[in-house]
Amino acid sequence: MERYYFDANATTPPLPRVVEAVRAAMAESWGNPTSTHREGQRARHLLEEARRAIAASLGVAPAELVFCASATEALHLLLRGLRPALGDRPALVFPGEHSACLNPLADWSGLRWLPADPAGAALLVQMAASNETGILYPMPAAPGAARIRDCAQAWGKVPVSLADCDAAVFSGHKIGGPRGAALLWLRPGLPWTAVLEGPQERRRRGGTEDLPAILGLAEAVAALPERLAGNAALAPLRDALEAEVLGWSADYAVIGRDQPRLPNTSSLLLRGHTGESVQIALDLAGFATSTGSACHSGATKPSHAITTLGFAEAEARSVLRVSLLPGTAPAAVAALAAALKRVLKR
Ligand code: PLP
Repeated sequence: MERYYFDANATTPPLPRVVEAVRAAMAESWGNPTSTHREGQRARHLLEEARRAIAASLGVAPAELVFCASATEALHLLLRGLRPALGDRPALVFPGEHSACLNPLADWSGLRWLPADPAGAALLVQMAASNETGILYPMPAAPGAARIRDCAQAWGKVPVSLADCDAAVFSGHKIGGPRGAALLWLRPGLPWTAVLEGPQERRRRGGTEDLPAILGLAEAVAALPERLAGNAALAPLRDALEAEVLGWSADYAVIGRDQPRLPNTSSLLLRGHTGESVQIALDLAGFATSTGSACHSGATKPSHAITTLGFAEAEARSVLRVSLLPGTAPAAVAALAAALKRVLKR
């Protein structure tokens, strides 16, 4: 049976040039970048070349980037590392953040949920784009606070600016890069201390660097201009799918339809159905979709990212997330619409 992948916000297939870069690095550049011999020096050179290229793409200085294994890890290092300086002062946090961000904040004593009054806040945490709804969020004003941006979903789908934040995280596997490579960006002067001791990454993240994954990430970053264009081109396809679904029943809605959104994401509220059963039926019919963030799939708790927008728990359980990959053909979207119509009619 032909398979159709509509879960780009969970992960993306690595680009062929990424697969080749990872393969070549594993075969030829397996030296430890910390070693002083020639194999190590070669690995160090490639590592720093990749850092320079990625930094240039983001418009930051190479030394400000820390390579991590995942955005989850980067968020933990970032937020745990800010705790010693800021942990006993108020933190202002968007309640729809990914659990990778909320978990390391759980034991901050002064947690307040946006849009609370920013006065006195030492930390401000606002994701650039929601993984579940695709809604884009500007950075709120909080004078004097360290501003944290989770760019895991926005990267490669819309232009990302770091002008209004002081630290940010990025994930390679959401942009056609490999698993195992992600970024933590730290603006110089941030009151941050390392929590994973070790000599690597200028003592900011211990552990031998995963050079193949990092070189694969650099390839994905080199392909970002085409990826951004490919994602932008998805909006009309996504909009047509939504228009069709909305035409089937007055009980159906699209979350965030009237707000600035990622061009590839559709959060379909299908009242009268559970997202989980629709997702399973679609999977059996050949279509990979999601009920929310991948991390929540299988969990019975409705997504906090949806209830935080004011939807009831039953409504949050009715959400099906469709997230398109760049290059998705109109015929594939039409096939999904036809399958979804059949599933909903059962
Ligand atoms: N932040 C957001 C908004 C995400 O969507 C995800 C993954 O779904 C993460 C963080 C975690 O990224 P990673 O899989 O690289 O740990």
